[in-house]
Amino acid sequence: MSTVDVHEIAHRRLAAVDQRYSDGRRQLVEVLRDSAHPMIAPEIVDAARDLPQSSVYRNLAVLESAGVVVKVLTNGDHAAFELAEELKGHHHHLVCVSCGQVLDIAIPEKVERLLDESLAPTAAHAGFVLTGHRLDLLGRCAQCR
Ligand SMILES: [Zn+2]
Ligand SMILES: [Zn+2]
Repeated sequence: MSTVDVHEIAHRRLAAVDQRYSDGRRQLVEVLRDSAHPMIAPEIVDAARDLPQSSVYRNLAVLESAGVVVKVLTNGDHAAFELAEELKGHHHHLVCVSCGQVLDIAIPEKVERLLDESLAPTAAHAGFVLTGHRLDLLGRCAQCR
């Protein structure tokens, strides 16, 4: 989605919390970078073949606390993970309310601007300066409809 150096940013964010950018963490970042959608933990365990499951879970937690990885809400039992916005680029999610599948979607730039412009006064009314937004689209996926 963007051409930023994800490793550079991941390295910097981990260093800021006194954590190393180990090979295992690097591999998790690559797995998430190469995925077209947020991944639930069992999918990440499958994709990161050289890493034992316990190490995947431990390192995901470290990457999340460093702000490299964020959790995405689904309606399933599992949280899905993806790279933080600075690494992955701004986008939104389509969430299936039936099976919990989450897809990444890009919203047209025109609509992004319209959202910010029309919501800024609402935020200002509450004393906020609008710096960004999150927006999930809910529906039923192709398998569940
Ligand atoms: Zn579904
Ligand atoms: Zn947006």
